[in-house]
Amino acid sequence: MSELVVMKFGGTSVADPEKIQRAAERAIAARKKGKRVVVVVSAPGEMTDELIDLAHRVSPNPDSRELDMLMATGEQVGISLFAIACEARGVGATSLTGPQAGILADAKHSKAKIVEIRPRKIHEELKRGNIVTVAGFQGLNPHRDITTLGRGGSDLTAVALAAALGAKHCEIYTDVHGVYTADPRLVPDARLIPRISFDEMLELAGAGAQVMQSRSIEVAKKFDVPIRVAHAFDRHSPGTWIVKEVSSMEDALVTGVALDRNQIKVTIRDVPDKPGMAADVFDMLGKANVNVDMIIQSAARGQSNDISFTVPKDDHENAIKALETVQRRLKTGSIEHTVNVAKVSVVGVGMRSHSGVAGRMFRTLADNSVNIQMIATSEIKISCIVDKADGERAMRCLHKAFGLEKTRRGYAAR
Ligand code: ASP
Ligand code: MG
Repeated sequence: MSELVVMKFGGTSVADPEKIQRAAERAIAARKKGKRVVVVVSAPGEMTDELIDLAHRVSPNPDSRELDMLMATGEQVGISLFAIACEARGVGATSLTGPQAGILADAKHSKAKIVEIRPRKIHEELKRGNIVTVAGFQGLNPHRDITTLGRGGSDLTAVALAAALGAKHCEIYTDVHGVYTADPRLVPDARLIPRISFDEMLELAGAGAQVMQSRSIEVAKKFDVPIRVAHAFDRHSPGTWIVKEVSSMEDALVTGVALDRNQIKVTIRDVPDKPGMAADVFDMLGKANVNVDMIIQSAARGQSNDISFTVPKDDHENAIKALETVQRRLKTGSIEHTVNVAKVSVVGVGMRSHSGVAGRMFRTLADNSVNIQMIATSEIKISCIVDKADGERAMRCLHKAFGLEKTRRGYAAR
């Protein structure tokens, strides 16, 4: 059978009629080469944000089932317009919602997981020679209701479909050329990374790089689906391949630098120094669905410790509510929080086999008078919490210290 390709176009790539036409031409070009083409489409432009905003203007607290119904309409606009554009060029196309495409999800509204894909209808349409456009970001739950897959969830739809349909890889078309050594808006000499491992991409996404939805990378890793991220409208854009790790990737010490300015630092003073206190604190935060990132517990002074940690800005309110309970129950001291922090991270599988990355990172920050407030590491990532005002500078000097502006593997961003 002929090759099957899964292409995904994000909201910015279908933001207006002209862009939809150009994106459709890309799908048509693949079809004319004899490929079977499945296109995952996002809601055009900022439509998802606008729909959420609309719901909040009708009610301060919209019902989660209805909010999913509403949000899912954005992608329906995208798929139908895309199919209309293909048909207008004389190429057969059929749009399918997530439920029509057989995307089955769990019941968790607004952050559902895909549990299974039954792509019968997709195959029928492909057999007819049609381009099939599939709504990203949505699935059918066990109660036959529509659920959505979390913000940026069209990436997940695309990767999961590529896995289920046995595509050789998944093509993600977007408004940037791929994955860079750092955000080129903040670091002008950032380079495009031609090839990066799933794990590095996951760490970069978790560290604040906003290229793809993290869950989509996890699924790509699990099913070993290579992903190519490239510019939707520049046919010469080499893009970035996100692939299984190979040993040559360890040659570089560091692959990328990321900055996350959406973290809040919280400190609980005078937590009694006895077993079970940290367990209680983080249990309560967990139950309140607060995603804790870095944690530091200082050495005990007398009968108590200070515990500091970071949480995403979005979880701020939940965290504060949970911590008031913590304070009452555990009789801790004051709770302090600040938004004036940033997390700067360096990521690279090279850290597994090279030593000295942490030392070079801390020395570089010191030489540039950047004070480190917290440190966290994984096997392939080192993150530091610094003052928010120092964040961009920290990123730029680390990018330079690890020679990323002249990486052999890269191309200039501009
Ligand atoms: N339209 C959804 C969002 O804005 C899904 C996506 O774009 O991937 O989050
Ligand atoms: Mg999007």
